[in-house]
Amino acid sequence: TPTIEGKMFMKALFDYDPTEDKAIPCKEAGLSFRKGDILQIMSQDDATWWQARHESDSNPRAGLIPSKHFQERRFALKRPEVHMQQLKISNRKSYAECAGYNSGTYIAGFRRSFRLSRKDRKTNKSMYECKKSDQYDTADVPTYEEVAPYRRQPNEKYRLVVLVGPVGVGLNELKRKLLISNTQHYGVTVPHTTRARRGQENDGVEYIFISKHLFETDVQNNKFIEYGEYKNNYYGTSIDSVRSVLTKNKVCLLDVQPHTVKHLRTLEFKPFVIFIKPPSLERLRETRKNSKIISSKDEKVAAKPFTEEDFQEMIKSAQMMESQYGHLFDKVIVNDDLTTAYNELKTTFDKLETETFWVPVSWLH
Ligand code: 5GP
Repeated sequence: TPTIEGKMFMKALFDYDPTEDKAIPCKEAGLSFRKGDILQIMSQDDATWWQARHESDSNPRAGLIPSKHFQERRFALKRPEVHMQQLKISNRKSYAECAGYNSGTYIAGFRRSFRLSRKDRKTNKSMYECKKSDQYDTADVPTYEEVAPYRRQPNEKYRLVVLVGPVGVGLNELKRKLLISNTQHYGVTVPHTTRARRGQENDGVEYIFISKHLFETDVQNNKFIEYGEYKNNYYGTSIDSVRSVLTKNKVCLLDVQPHTVKHLRTLEFKPFVIFIKPPSLERLRETRKNSKIISSKDEKVAAKPFTEEDFQEMIKSAQMMESQYGHLFDKVIVNDDLTTAYNELKTTFDKLETETFWVPVSWLH
């Protein structure tokens, strides 16, 4: 375990190659890194270029990396269609100015790519204005996250384990295997529903049965992690249902859409996010030809055989998830062979309970 007193660590949320960076003062002085790497920040004296070294690297040589501020601005500029819309609009200042580009190659690049026609200028003017340089939303511009080592104490609640992956990847089979391997140790949430209880069902076992009115109130009060409608009834997973699994001193296994992950990233849950990734298209064809697709939470619905389109959809969906949410994944497991993937998952869970992991500093109060 590294000693952290006086040291600052950042988890890189993007890949960086200084040789491709036109803005770096000296390419040879740059430090390259990959998404997920832990960097020790040696100096933040310069607002644009920090000095850092790889945490795991015994070589103490520090190199230049773009500062958080600088990189956020560059990313925001690269994706104007997303970030321009998020600008808080007020006084008249150009977007380039707001983003800190006052000179050199970047402003030129900016002008070229985002120059507005006269007509656009009239209609879209407000898009190019923002209040103050640091007031646009950088939450969706992943650059670095300050982290510190964390190890679960023996009497502490378990971390929430979030499983994400495309439909059909085998996430439910993996979850089920894990659950039955130790029902005392692993738990899943009980969903809420507004539909009537069926004969053999017990409240709080299959579902928590509530009225439509209460469900809607709970939605309003942000009590749900996710919810949906099916045959005129609401179904959903509440935050409290996660708490109730954790309070029983169990590891809570939760599968959700990746866009809900960021709302779960709190000190209370300290979620560990596992991405279940499909193998190549060729391997999917070879290994899944005769299997059936069982979509999330739909186990009772008749399973149907995979089609070629299902495979392609799975790969596409996985790529989309990884490019958009990859920075939130703590672990990626490829589900090629189910047994191998299961063993890797099990090993990950065992480590999670005993070993040290990097978590956002904000989770350590
Ligand atoms: P049933 O009413 O037959 O028990 O479930 C019908 C459907 O409700 C399921 O197949 C599934 O699509 C949906 N469902 C069950 N639990 C949840 C949940 O927690 N969230 C969402 N969004 N849908 C659920």
